[in-house]
Amino acid sequence: MRILIIGTGGTIASRMTEKGYKAGLGVDELLELAGIEKNDGVSIDSWDLMRVDSTLIQPEDWITIGKAVWESLEDYDGIVITHGTDTLAYTSSALSFMLRNPPVPVVLTGSMLPITEPGSDAPENLRTAITFARDGIPGIYVAFRNKVMLGTRVSKVHSLGLNAFQSINYPDVAYLRGGSLVVMHRPALRGETSFDPRIDPNVVHIRLTPGLSPEVFLSIAGEADGIVLEGYGAGGIPYRGRNLLEAVSKVAPKKPVVMTTQALYGGVDLTRYEVGRRALEAGVIPAGDMTKEATLTKLMYALGHARKVEEVREIIMKNLACEISR
Ligand code: ASP
Repeated sequence: MRILIIGTGGTIASRMTEKGYKAGLGVDELLELAGIEKNDGVSIDSWDLMRVDSTLIQPEDWITIGKAVWESLEDYDGIVITHGTDTLAYTSSALSFMLRNPPVPVVLTGSMLPITEPGSDAPENLRTAITFARDGIPGIYVAFRNKVMLGTRVSKVHSLGLNAFQSINYPDVAYLRGGSLVVMHRPALRGETSFDPRIDPNVVHIRLTPGLSPEVFLSIAGEADGIVLEGYGAGGIPYRGRNLLEAVSKVAPKKPVVMTTQALYGGVDLTRYEVGRRALEAGVIPAGDMTKEATLTKLMYALGHARKVEEVREIIMKNLACEISR
């Protein structure tokens, strides 16, 4: 049994410097500090791919990480990726679209407290990730605080607490109890293993707030190839007073405008209210029950594969990696 751990940085690999926490530790140091042997029943290899705070992660880095995983799939029974928590959900979502149906578990993890600090959650999270990489189900996952969640369904929901990730609109996949893995839900991930990293990173996420002017929307939207518009509740676009709906209806036939919601749970249903139906008529594409991270990265992926709005719509509304259920 062989496991590969790919290090990318994050708090988990940080130590205090005079300028604050900085990601500097390699995977071997992480394992040593966590008290995990590299040859204790499972043989663990390490690969220090990058050492950065995940705030610095760019879409091109998702491709680098994806390639590293893709090239290693044949040689390992499971792969763990250590990553900063701030953009971990974007990376796990982007990887899930690029790298479809991996034949082994690929598990991202990180920690809220540096491994060098007393009481750090890093050793526990690493153990959960390694256990799932060894005994779990093929696919791309996030392991955090004893839970394993599907990579396309996680969001960071706490900036300080150790239980920082939740699975949104989707059940947790597994949890670790007393060192044993309990699988709760098997995602229906099926199909050929493939890696296709074509993406268009020129996507903008605009949050709808009372008073957002059509001019500001148009100027931001004008610079992007695709727009994620984060509305309220079930979704809809204002047209009373400032007529944002008119501005959106000018953009949506030419470049994709995907509507998500500020609510953490439930997703959008643009058929529910008149303001939502008008958005649909304007050409808006509903994000269904996808997370914001999955919506943004899927739009980048879709634009890497299609330019016509109708083709992008088809990709966005299709279930690729259990990220959308309606
Ligand atoms: N700023 C850190 C990062 O995302 C936070 C963390 O890892 O918890 O790299």
